[in-house]
Amino acid sequence: MQTKGRLIVISGPSGAGKSTIVFKAIEGRDDMCFSTSVTSRSPRPGEVDGREYFFIDRERFQQMIADDELLEHAEYVGNYYGTPRKFVEDKLAAGVSVFLDIEVQGARQVSEKMPEAIKIFVITPSLEELRRRLVKRGTDSPEAIEGRLRRAREEYAEADFYDYIIVNDKVEVAAAELQAILTAENCKYSSRKHWLENA
Ligand code: 5GP
Repeated sequence: MQTKGRLIVISGPSGAGKSTIVFKAIEGRDDMCFSTSVTSRSPRPGEVDGREYFFIDRERFQQMIADDELLEHAEYVGNYYGTPRKFVEDKLAAGVSVFLDIEVQGARQVSEKMPEAIKIFVITPSLEELRRRLVKRGTDSPEAIEGRLRRAREEYAEADFYDYIIVNDKVEVAAAELQAILTAENCKYSSRKHWLENA
């Protein structure tokens, strides 16, 4: 029986290591994928259009909103970000689970439209540790780092609708926790009841 894919929302401050742990989880799997967002922010050194993001201007972004092409969208630290709807819907219909790496306002929109989505919040052991990681990454100015830390604090206060929290101290442990969440979700009565019905 073809089952629908699951929508998995991953949020948490930039620099908490969300994409690293998701890539570990989906490595070598054809039943899970990552959605590529559109953004109006400029590419960082090393980022490739169509890989990290589809980089578009604000005008095109507004047009996508007007044409209802985005499943959700938000403004984050001065830039627009959004999830192209069609990619997600096609994958889910084909039985492929889709990860969205999105911030809290977008996650709330998804949660309201698709309450069955699994919502996971990823954090560092402390905000000081987050600051260290952002400084080490070297892609943001000191002002941008302060902006991201401020936004992280705000997001922590808005995160009460998530299902799970992963504290990413050691990446292997965090990736294992993500695997455990996905396994437990697959074993839920609601996910497995067709086994009883078709026994
Ligand atoms: P960054 O600029 O560091 O790549 O991303 C900044 C924030 O935007 C991160 O918290 C990331 O999760 C979020 N983000 C990335 N893509 C999307 C999206 O499509 N929608 C929303 N709402 N947030 C996104």
